[in-house]
Amino acid sequence: MEKLRVELGERSYEVLIDRGNIPLIGERLLRFSIGKKVALISNPKIFELYGEKVTSSLKKEGFDPYVVLIPDGELYKDYFWAYHIITRLLESGFDRKSCLIALGGGVIGDITGFVASIYMRGIPYIQIPTTLLAQVDSSVGGKTAVNHPLGKNMIGSFWQPSLVWIDVDTLDTLPEREFISGLAEVIKYGIIWDNEFFELLDKNKEKILRKEKEILIQIIKRACEIKAEVVSKDERESSLRAILNYGHTIGHAIETLTGYSSYLHGEAISIGMVYEAKLSSILGFLDRESLERIKNILKNFGLPINLPLNMDFSAMIKTILLDKKNIEGKLRMVFPEAIGKMKINFEISEEDLKKVLNE
Ligand code: NAD
Ligand code: MG
Repeated sequence: MEKLRVELGERSYEVLIDRGNIPLIGERLLRFSIGKKVALISNPKIFELYGEKVTSSLKKEGFDPYVVLIPDGELYKDYFWAYHIITRLLESGFDRKSCLIALGGGVIGDITGFVASIYMRGIPYIQIPTTLLAQVDSSVGGKTAVNHPLGKNMIGSFWQPSLVWIDVDTLDTLPEREFISGLAEVIKYGIIWDNEFFELLDKNKEKILRKEKEILIQIIKRACEIKAEVVSKDERESSLRAILNYGHTIGHAIETLTGYSSYLHGEAISIGMVYEAKLSSILGFLDRESLERIKNILKNFGLPINLPLNMDFSAMIKTILLDKKNIEGKLRMVFPEAIGKMKINFEISEEDLKKVLNE
C-alpha cells in the first residue's frame, strides 16, 4: 500500500493507493470517528461493478450502508441531482456524524463532495475514485461542484475529503479511451512540476499502456503527491494552484465549442497543452526542443495534439476571453518555461493568442 498525506492543518488527510484494496475500505473506516450510517453515492454502471464489494466490506465492520444512485453522465452533475441526494439522506435520517462515500469518477466525486459540504452545514466524505482522471486529479484537493445550465462547475465549494482510497484494479474495467484521456492529466504533472517524472512516463509508455499495476501505482502516487504539494501551498487558488490549469484555458474553449461531445476532457486538455506551450515558445519562454518533447509524449500516448480543422478561431478567442480564470477582462494564463517549471499569472494579448491559433 502506497500512502501520502495532503497537508492542510486540521483538514489534512491521506491518499492510499494499492491494488485489490476496495474490500478493505470498511476496516479502514473504523479509524474515523463517524457514525455507523454511511451513504454510498454512485451510478448504476459503477455500482454494478464494485458496489457489492464496498457494501459488504462496510457491513462486515458493522456499518450500515445506504445506497443512492444517480444516472451516469456529466449531464446529471447538477443541482437537481444534488438536491435528490440530500432528500434521500434526510428521509433516511442521516445526521452530522454520517459519512458519504463517493464511488465513481469525477462526476460522482464532485457531486458527492458538494452535497457533503452543504448537508447540515457540512459532513465528512470519502473518495473511492474509479477513473484514472479521478484518481490523479478530481478526488484530491477538495474542489467540489455541480454544473449550471449557464456554466460548468459554477456552483461549488472547497470541502476536503477525509480519505482518498484508490484501487488501481478498478482501471481494468475502464474504457481504453477514458484511460488514455486520464493520462493527459498525468503528463500535465510532469510538465508543470517534475522533469524526472516526465521522463519516467516517457520511458515507461508501454508498461503504462498495458496497465501494469506496479507502474500505475507509482505514477498515480507521484501525480497525487504533486497535486497535494500544490494544494497544500495554495488551497484556494490565489496563485500557485493555477499551474494545475495548464492546458485548460484553450482546452476548455475546445470543449465548449464542440459542445462537450467530440472530445473527452483529457483529450481537449492535451490539445490545449500543446497550443499553450506553443504560445510560450512564441513569447520566447519555452525552447523549441521542449515544445517538441511535449508534443511527442502526448502523441505517443495516443492523445490528440492538433485543433480540429473546422475550428472557428474568432469564436475560440471569444470563448477564451470569457474564461472564469480571467480577472477584470484581462487574459491571464500559466505556461511552461521549461519542462517542470511554470510561469504563472502571465497576462497575454489577443494578438499573441491569434498568432498561436493560426499557426
Ligand atoms: P466520469 O465520472 O463521467 O466517468 C467517466 C465514465 O466512466 C462514466 O461513464 C463512468 O460511469 C465510467 N466509469 C467510471 N469508473 C469506471 C470503471 N472503473 N470501470 C468502467 N467504467 C467506469 O468522468 P471523469 O473523467 O472521471 O470525471 C470528469 C468530471 O470530473 C467532470 O465533471 C469534471 O468537472 C470533474 N473534475 C473535477 C476536478 C476537481 O478538482 N474537483 C478535477 C478534474 C475534473
Ligand atoms: Mg482537468
